[in-house]
Amino acid sequence: MAPAFSLTSTGTKPLHDLLGGYLPPNLIPNSELSFTRARIWLQACDKNHAECRKHAVKSPYMPKRVLEVHGAPLTLRARLVNNAPPASYAALSYCWGGDQMAKSIKSRVHKYKKDIPLDKLPRTIYDALVVTRGIGLCYLWVDAMCIIQDDGDDMAEQMGQMFAVYRGAYVTISAATAATSNEGFLHPRTSFKPLILSACLSSNTFGPVLASPGPRTSLRRSTVPEYPLFTRSWTYQEHQLSTRLLIYTPLGLISWCPLSTHRDGGNEHPNWQSQNEFATSPPLILVRPS
Ligand SMILES: [Zn+2]
Repeated sequence: MAPAFSLTSTGTKPLHDLLGGYLPPNLIPNSELSFTRARIWLQACDKNHAECRKHAVKSPYMPKRVLEVHGAPLTLRARLVNNAPPASYAALSYCWGGDQMAKSIKSRVHKYKKDIPLDKLPRTIYDALVVTRGIGLCYLWVDAMCIIQDDGDDMAEQMGQMFAVYRGAYVTISAATAATSNEGFLHPRTSFKPLILSACLSSNTFGPVLASPGPRTSLRRSTVPEYPLFTRSWTYQEHQLSTRLLIYTPLGLISWCPLSTHRDGGNEHPNWQSQNEFATSPPLILVRPS
């Protein structure tokens, strides 16, 4: 179990300031803290980035089918809906990694319109439903579920809609490191292997802190294209069409829009895509454990 930590300090300054603007790494990707950060970043883009909205589709777009999801992570319910009224929806970009047993086919559509058995869903799709609810949305588009996989006419029609589906999405959820649909992407980030040290955070604040590798060694951009999702031309296209991305990696969540990039912990760099590496990052990020 990954250790928990808080964003507060016992000193007079917020911990974020003490760390020089660096957020502590978040080891729990499906935590409320992680979802809250993602919501704040997306809402800031909505409010402040007129340039980003220029990249979106001009009129409200809704895919022909979407997964409608309600409830909290432990009480999720989902169903397949046709011709839902235009609303904000997330799209999923992920690797199939083989056939999917729960995909939508003609004989299942009637049942899926009533209820989708979540225990039968591939983990990556289930995790995407969790993120969809976590960021406050009720609709998710996933190719395996929203295109009837044994209907040639539907396949042809929907494949022609890929541009609109990804360009029209409120955000694309990118399961960057899941090589198959069964892997999921919300696992605790155990690769940090944090170490508790005794340290001085400021002139009047002492106590234990949690030390973990900083982005100089663990979150360099050069490692991102090595993830399975970025080795496939189809998903590369999905990313290029998307106006905003939430990229889930084992080392952190990267939130990207054309004007800003944020990380769910670690270095907050103003523009992830334009940098070769994070040369100004500190070697350590210090976090006070709760
Ligand atoms: Zn933006």
